[in-house]
Amino acid sequence: MAGSVERLRKVLALEGRRKFADTAVIGGLDAYLLNFLQEMTFPAGHRVPQLLRSLPPGGYRVLHPVQRRRVVEELLMAVKGAQSERPRPDGKGAGPPVSLTASPPVAKPVGKPVVRPAKRRTAKPAAGPRPVVGLEAPLNSLSGVSRGYGAKYRRLGVETLRDLLFLFPYRYHDYSQVRSIADMAVGEEQTILGDVRSASASAVGRRKATEAKVVDNTGELRVIWWGQTHMARRLRQGEKVALSGRVTVFRGRRQMENPELELIDDESLHTRRLVPVYPSTEGLPQRLMRRLAREAVDALAGEVPEPLPEPLRRRLGLSEVATGLRQMHFPDSETEAKGARRRFALQELLYIQLAVVRRRMEWQAGGEAPVLVLPPPVRDGFIRSLPFDLTGAQRRSIEAVLSDIGGDLPMSRLLEGDVGSGKTVVAAAALLAAVASGYQGAIMAPTEILAEQHFGTFHLLLEPGASAADASGPWFQAAGPGFVVLQIPYLERPVRVGLLTGSLKPAERAAAQDAIARGGVDIAIGTQALIQEEVSFANLGLVVVDEQHRFGVTQRAALREKGLSPHMLVMTATPIPRTLALTVYGDMDITVLDEMPPGRPPVKTHRLRAAEREQAYDFVRRKVKEGRQAYVICPLVEESDAVAVRAAVQEYERLSRKEVSDLRVGLVHGRVTSAEKDSRMLAFRDGDLDILVSTAVVEVGVDVPNATVMLVEGADRFGLAQLHQFRGRVRRSTEQAYCLLLSDGQSPEVRERLRIMETVHDGFVLAEEDLRLRGPGEFFGTRQSGLPDLKVARFTDVPLIELARSEATRMLERDPELRGPEYLELRREMEELWGRISAEAS
Ligand code: ADP
Ligand code: MG
Repeated sequence: MAGSVERLRKVLALEGRRKFADTAVIGGLDAYLLNFLQEMTFPAGHRVPQLLRSLPPGGYRVLHPVQRRRVVEELLMAVKGAQSERPRPDGKGAGPPVSLTASPPVAKPVGKPVVRPAKRRTAKPAAGPRPVVGLEAPLNSLSGVSRGYGAKYRRLGVETLRDLLFLFPYRYHDYSQVRSIADMAVGEEQTILGDVRSASASAVGRRKATEAKVVDNTGELRVIWWGQTHMARRLRQGEKVALSGRVTVFRGRRQMENPELELIDDESLHTRRLVPVYPSTEGLPQRLMRRLAREAVDALAGEVPEPLPEPLRRRLGLSEVATGLRQMHFPDSETEAKGARRRFALQELLYIQLAVVRRRMEWQAGGEAPVLVLPPPVRDGFIRSLPFDLTGAQRRSIEAVLSDIGGDLPMSRLLEGDVGSGKTVVAAAALLAAVASGYQGAIMAPTEILAEQHFGTFHLLLEPGASAADASGPWFQAAGPGFVVLQIPYLERPVRVGLLTGSLKPAERAAAQDAIARGGVDIAIGTQALIQEEVSFANLGLVVVDEQHRFGVTQRAALREKGLSPHMLVMTATPIPRTLALTVYGDMDITVLDEMPPGRPPVKTHRLRAAEREQAYDFVRRKVKEGRQAYVICPLVEESDAVAVRAAVQEYERLSRKEVSDLRVGLVHGRVTSAEKDSRMLAFRDGDLDILVSTAVVEVGVDVPNATVMLVEGADRFGLAQLHQFRGRVRRSTEQAYCLLLSDGQSPEVRERLRIMETVHDGFVLAEEDLRLRGPGEFFGTRQSGLPDLKVARFTDVPLIELARSEATRMLERDPELRGPEYLELRREMEELWGRISAEAS
């Protein structure tokens, strides 16, 4: 009994450390507590069973963390009572160091006794029962984990033995080839077995070292351990050793430098096999890491619950989790190592895919969406009255969207297309369908300027014969709530377009909201203000979200909470590599606008060194003399918004004092008020400024066709996809546009990356390149990627991601909630993963 009580105590303590998240034991506390209750016999009236029986029918799981805390604390107190009732066997100090193997189904411990009790602060003699060391035990339950090492492991994200099991090697030394000294191959990793003939600490040249001679029956080998004079003390003459490493040549003779060494009688851990190399930090030796990994694997690999259901494993030829763990750390062969890696990679990807596929299903099951149709005459009228001919890609996209919204499954579609590829008109067609079907539509932009610009654009796109002057009507002045009534002959009814942004005065805002709520607005254009709590729609049928990567999950949830399941179209100019699209936007269908309107030559792009800055600005000046305008993008400053703003202001002052003191320069950044920002944008758009200096923050979406030059300072700080998006700003007309990339970066990688910008004009190619060069975190810019860290899988592994996706779909189609017992572990892991991510993202 005492063993179980001690275990319960530990579980409860862990639950406390985990902030009562019900994660102390796998599968949640309820099953564990129930089991505990059944296994134990308590004296009548004992507090523990009373407490457990007093839990609500839903169990511990349904309690609020505050209630959970109370339960845990009371249980802990009751458990203390249970313990003190027991007679103490001897009343003296803690028992002898125990082995991990105190827990049942495990292998023999390796080498010396290596484990000590979890913490020595068990001053109270808890003797008798041997503490069980499980997956959740802290790392220092293993011997040799000093406080310092513990801290270093923590930096690698390892706190418990479970974490240790999942800290995988990123490669292996192949020391599996055992050769005789005569057969050693220079430059290869290999192992030799021999006797130590001599070993001494000495100075070789000017460096301290241990120099040894090792012989086998084919010859003699010189071995040097640089800097490690202690090796001389470890080696005894005549000792049989295994040495693994690369063979080098010195003065015509072969030798080994700093090889791994083991006594032949020792279990092979560092030599004679595929030897794991772990991600480490300074001062955390590989040898220690290997030993600890070995202990953890031997003792606990069999305790890790299997998340992958058996039929799936069989079908895909994946090993069991325990085997996988062993082979991951100490593989028998390259093939086994690969197999294990594939297993865990698929497992990781499966968690992601289950979550995104389920999100998609939930969105679709959330309610019926209205059927929105664009009657042929309206559609023809719309297309005919556009000021341009649609590109093929635009036609195809419009078809795809109309076909989605013509059904009652809520659409969830991502429209991807370079800046300037003409996404707005696709949105307009869909919104028109909503209006024609008697519903409201909304289009949401990330900034006020963009929202206002859309306001003008819709005027232009929907009302035949509207001029650019009409389109710029009330927008940009932000003086009052924008509201226009468009007369649309082909629709036989006016379309009322309203603008709702955060900068409206309270009264205007109230009026706009009221109109939206009453159905007095057909198309509402705005910022996130549109989905604020106070806003309600009379009958919203379609939401279009412009230019925001991360939009979706949370905002869709917000919409759902309003009791709406409108269709949703998300538009982005960020080219997203297919693999990321499958993960980050895995719950959406994707349409790509892969064609630019005709007559837009690619932007001529040149990389210039900082020393050539003068030339760059000469060029800008020349273009301005020709009547063009230019953007200057400030270097990316990541520390903080304030720092970025300061940097931008300095840049601006330097430019207007030096490089372009003769030109009219304006500055916008994240901290200028939106009125100021608007007036500067307006000035730029109207040609009253020659140059607009801007931080990356305000980059999005402004449409100024006369601006044909873009100069990016500190270009190496930006990602390729982002640079591509920048230069799209100047590809707005038939005029040849230019993008100058200034960079002080000297490294070959920087040069390589920027050289790619000069030659590649396909956003998707650049995005793939970006992903390859910088990884997914960087790809989306800092923090907000919304992607889990992958330990084993790669975001570039298309076939495996697709496999995970089809498996996830298959599972969810059979069991949408993953309620089956075979999914218990899978579901738990998946929910934990996504819980963590959404906590970080919010
Ligand atoms: P995006 O939002 O994809 O960056 P926009 O929808 O703002 O692009 O369109 C960019 C510019 O191209 C706008 O001025 C728009 O009027 C124009 N445009 C869109 N489609 C076409 C087309 N098929 N032919 C010519 N110009 C077009
Ligand atoms: Mg746009």
